Amino acid sequence: MADESVSKIHIAIIGGGLAGATLANALIQIPHFDIHVYESAPSFSERGAAIGLDTNAQQALEHILPSGSQELLKRAGAVPLNSVRSVVGSGPNAGQIVMDSSGDDSGVIVHRASLLRELIAPLPSKSLFTNKKLDTIKPSLSTGTIKVKFQDGDTKEFDAVVGADGIFSTVRSYVLQDEADKFAASQAGFWDCRCLVPIEKAKAMLGPELFTFHRQYGWVGDGSFIMHDVLENGTMVQCVISAIEHINHTPTKDRKRMLSRETLTQTLKNWLDGPIANGIIELALDQEELHGYSQWEHKATPTYANGNVCVIGDAAHATTPWQGSGIAMAFEDVMVLQELFKNITSSAEVATAFKVYDMIRRPRCQRIIDSSRGTGMVLCGQDTYAGLDPEKLREALAHRWDFIVGLDLDAHKIDALHKFREIQQGGTS
Ligand SMILES: Cc1cc2nc3c(=O)[nH]c(=O)nc-3n(C[C@H](O)[C@H](O)[C@H](O)COP(=O)(O)OP(=O)(O)OC[C@H]3O[C@@H](n4cnc5c(N)ncnc54)[C@H](O)[C@@H]3O)c2cc1C
Repeated sequence: MADESVSKIHIAIIGGGLAGATLANALIQIPHFDIHVYESAPSFSERGAAIGLDTNAQQALEHILPSGSQELLKRAGAVPLNSVRSVVGSGPNAGQIVMDSSGDDSGVIVHRASLLRELIAPLPSKSLFTNKKLDTIKPSLSTGTIKVKFQDGDTKEFDAVVGADGIFSTVRSYVLQDEADKFAASQAGFWDCRCLVPIEKAKAMLGPELFTFHRQYGWVGDGSFIMHDVLENGTMVQCVISAIEHINHTPTKDRKRMLSRETLTQTLKNWLDGPIANGIIELALDQEELHGYSQWEHKATPTYANGNVCVIGDAAHATTPWQGSGIAMAFEDVMVLQELFKNITSSAEVATAFKVYDMIRRPRCQRIIDSSRGTGMVLCGQDTYAGLDPEKLREALAHRWDFIVGLDLDAHKIDALHKFREIQQGGTS
């Protein structure tokens, strides 16, 4: 039952992607929080195919949701990532196995749109607003509230604002003020393209032996990386080609570019004698229109919070996809904010909670962004030590995920709460 002596804390969540929807699920459980989710698109929707959730992502979700993560993931159709095999894709060692990881580490793959659907479903419709694009944020000095203005001219006031508005976040610009341009997202040095094809076609092009077992394959080669995995109950195969940016493209601010047979052949020119490149090129070109997207990231961020406004998810820490950690970081952000918010009773404490959130989350997320970029270099055969030597690659890759999946989430929450209490009691941080 709600404590009547505690006044409501009104929060605007800007952005209804996976981070915003997860935060809304976390905060509706706290009776004295009144949440409003504003999404600029006409509906809550996700593009793209699948998203991988490592154990830390699943465990963070388990902490957040009252009924745990497993039921929700089941309803979203998540399937276990049975096994991952890394293989050399080009050069004299092409075809040699770098390493196999079995299903013991229990990662899952889930369709992005289905995951968002299940996160939106439990939210009260009175808290959800679409076609609401944030325009500006201004603190009101007289009331101590935050005034948000939408592009349709509507304005509202809140005690706090959380920006979950993605990589080119408007809320981030407010948080960083004059430094926003300096710390805006920039190219990470890679591009990738993705396609989804029926499994029979993939078997015909890549060879049936790669599909006797539903396994994710990562092919490490000269300047590029190829991945394929089986989705949609074994009926479809997702194929990804990623490459170092400078090989074929002069860096451009335009994230999207058309791909042709010529660009793909040029990208994979040192792979063509190997077992995978020719088939993948044919599968990719079978799409009606094939686009490549450059990968962008936040190379540094001086803070995730400014007073009663903060950023989470890609708005705070967009990363390359090489260690599949974007959504895990967002879930961890939410877990920490939820823990802090459970322990505040008035809007006067929000700024301290956000300050602690920044202190706890920023070092970890920046480490993941930097590690992910480095992992991309190893997987594109650019590591000066490992090159395309299977044993050295194994050595270079074997422990890169340890600090990501090994986070003790209970300790992370306790750490946040201790810092919060310390600041409240006037101690040093
Ligand atoms: C191709 C690809 C594959 C990936 N694979 C993985 C993976 O396997 N594992 C993993 O962990 N991560 C993966 N990621 C990363 C992961 O998808 C993201 O980290 C995550 O989805 C970010 O969620 P978000 O809610 O923070 O941002 P977004 O998904 O970008 O959502 C932001 C939302 O805010 C809305 N918005 C934007 N501006 C405004 C505004 N001004 N006002 C109101 N609303 C606004 C947008 O419409 C959008 O709905 C991948 C990313 C990509 C692109």
